[in-house]
Amino acid sequence: MTRIRLDVAIIGAGMGGLTAAASLRKAGIDVTVYEQARQFTRLGAGIQIGCNAMHVLRALGLEQRLRGETFYPRSWNNRDWRTGEVLFDMIFGRPAEERYGAPYLLAHRGDLHAALASLVPADCIRLNHRLIGLEPLATGRVRLVFADGATAEADAVVGADGVNSVVRRFLFGDSELHFTGRIAYRTVFPARLLQGVTLDECVKWWGEDRHIVMYPVKPDRSEVYFVTSQPEPEFSAESWSTEGDVAVLRAAFDGFHPQVRGVLAACPAVHKRTLVDRDPLPRWGEGNVVLLGDACHPMTPYMAQGAAMAIEDAAILARCLDGIAHEGVPQALARYVATRQDRTARVQRTSRENRWGKGATDPDWVYGYNALTAPLADAGGS
Ligand code: FAD
Repeated sequence: MTRIRLDVAIIGAGMGGLTAAASLRKAGIDVTVYEQARQFTRLGAGIQIGCNAMHVLRALGLEQRLRGETFYPRSWNNRDWRTGEVLFDMIFGRPAEERYGAPYLLAHRGDLHAALASLVPADCIRLNHRLIGLEPLATGRVRLVFADGATAEADAVVGADGVNSVVRRFLFGDSELHFTGRIAYRTVFPARLLQGVTLDECVKWWGEDRHIVMYPVKPDRSEVYFVTSQPEPEFSAESWSTEGDVAVLRAAFDGFHPQVRGVLAACPAVHKRTLVDRDPLPRWGEGNVVLLGDACHPMTPYMAQGAAMAIEDAAILARCLDGIAHEGVPQALARYVATRQDRTARVQRTSRENRWGKGATDPDWVYGYNALTAPLADAGGS
């Protein structure tokens, strides 16, 4: 008997998993999100929301909320670490909004995550569910097994479970992440602590072997974020919660422009994590199981596009599954993969170069993409 209404299990309630849940529900598909964490925590980090991601977030009804909670920058300015010389001013604000049809916003990561979570009813999200097993069934459905022994079934499984994806491991076995030998220090802190230090709207200070990106994350500039990239090959913790030493960070940026040193002097505490990525994967799925977001295309944060790619993936996945019956799932997932792979591979490779904005840069191919209208690959997929 043909089942009309699909039910999809999504592993991971990060940016990608939640956007996929909201987008699939909008297409009339039943969704359950399984997340290993016991509760959502508000990570002290900023996130740039590219115009390309904003097309998807707008379609989900989040534009007004996000405009009200985020900072609207006139540009992403790129400056020399010592002299402050402007290397390239990537213009956003009104001109970019007119050119790309959506705004570029600078958010607190917690605000974006909360906005996405607000779109998914609580009874569709199972916290404290760590996936440990997947098994294709003779019915064509997939069985899921969780760490506490609970099980579930779904027509399709979407692995939105991040850089260390267990779904990817089930599909393709173990494979090492590429550790860049670099780490990111980051923090969000109250702007009142700056005490007279001027902060550009959004600026990347380019040093010889390191950089720092700074921007406000609230419309009234009341909170400030920065994130660095610097060599520290001996460090290997790949987590958002490891604390860093502010004195070590300040020493690493000694000699930078006074604005940088002023911001670092004012910040009370920092976290640090390794920067990892992967070469583009040849395959993202098998049958009724597929990957999305960092699970299949983790990238360095140098273009600020990792979450944006996960958000685009989610919109394309929903378009491919819209109106599909159970029997059509493998082909629809193959179509999603075929639609997404070239674009995400190009962003991964470009991001790894770490030249985005360092000199004249053509941003149109990144921000001008609209996942709601972009052509889908042929139904056969690849
Ligand atoms: P994640 O956000 O990692 O979510 C995965 C989820 O899966 C987690 O909640 C995890 O707990 C859960 N999970 C994992 N394993 C299991 C399991 N076995 N069972 C159940 N649940 C599981 N991107 C941008 O677009 N703009 C930026 O400005 C930007 N800045 C960045 C700055 C830094 C320093 C870094 C490191 C990244 C940045 N990114 C940025 C990239 C962005 O953070 C990621 O690309 C994005 O978070 C990926 O989302 P995701 O949903 O794929 O994975």
